[in-house]
Amino acid sequence: MPNEQIENIIIIGSGPAGDTAALYSARADLNPLVIEGMPPGGQLTITTDVENYPGFPNGVQGPELTELFRKQAERFGARFLTGSVTNVDFGSLPFKLTIEDEKNIFSKAIIIATGATAKLLGLKSESRLMGRGVSACATCDGFFFKDKELIVVGGGDTAMEEATFLTKFASKIYIVHRRNEFRASKIMQQRVLNNEKIDVIWNSNVVDILGENDVTGVKLENTISKEISDMPIDGVFLAIGHKPNTDLFKNIIDLNESGYIITKNGTNTNIPGIFACGDVQDWIYRQAVTAAGTGCMAAIDAERFLEK
Ligand code: NDP
Repeated sequence: MPNEQIENIIIIGSGPAGDTAALYSARADLNPLVIEGMPPGGQLTITTDVENYPGFPNGVQGPELTELFRKQAERFGARFLTGSVTNVDFGSLPFKLTIEDEKNIFSKAIIIATGATAKLLGLKSESRLMGRGVSACATCDGFFFKDKELIVVGGGDTAMEEATFLTKFASKIYIVHRRNEFRASKIMQQRVLNNEKIDVIWNSNVVDILGENDVTGVKLENTISKEISDMPIDGVFLAIGHKPNTDLFKNIIDLNESGYIITKNGTNTNIPGIFACGDVQDWIYRQAVTAAGTGCMAAIDAERFLEK
């Protein structure tokens, strides 16, 4: 048995899910500790305007919203520790977490809110123009592209879904795909191919995104002829997949074939006392508000577990 203090609840990861779990468990007098992760705050910190989070009729900047979540949780006593969890031992109670390979901390319950990361192309211009015409979330940012011309990169179901969704706003959409056939399900492909607002640019990669302060175009490379061409465009939506941040939990927590944590009966994982919320267990909705909702659920589930 460790000599150190045993926490009631440790929340791994900040962001809408982790911070909401912290708020609810702090208000339940459980004195939660949030291990923020590096960088803290999750995907919202790389978003500019957030217009679909309820309660902000004029919108709010992603980093500001993150700060507000944190302040609200701190007001009720939630504590935040900056650092990454580098190892976990969920084999017996209390659960053990190692921070930065140095310090061990112990807890009676754990809430995992480590999120997911949108896969990026790895271009310098892509990070520079992120939130300025480059986006990885059509639901979040599509509205800003009324009557604009856009490209969607990718050939899976997400690319099909995002392109179809974006037709509500954009005047024209080009799906840029690196092969000559889509990976997406047939029905989603048909929806795209039958939509007159959408054209497909096959066998092509985006090798650069152009623009100083906003996106003005892309450089495309044909994967067969290797020919490079410039294409004027107003926005670039990346839909090349997401990676749930679950490497730490492989072979410990049950994950689905894409690596997302499997939750049952609310936010329960396969280990009693370990809960998961937010994008780390959600490959469908991926919204700040749904993440916050499951964060609330995880705190309530953890509180009930501790009462037992
Ligand atoms: P996928 O992994 O299915 O598809 C990713 C796509 O991006 C592929 O077409 C891939 O090309 C392309 N890609 C990957 N890396 C690069 C790169 N570096 N440069 C260019 N292109 C790249 O991810 P999705 O997010 O589309 O889907 C994930 C899962 O979620 C799937 O199981 C999907 O079915 C599911 N989903 C279901 C939906 C629904 O049912 N409504 C909606 C959205 C997702 P290539 O094909 O050549 O590998």
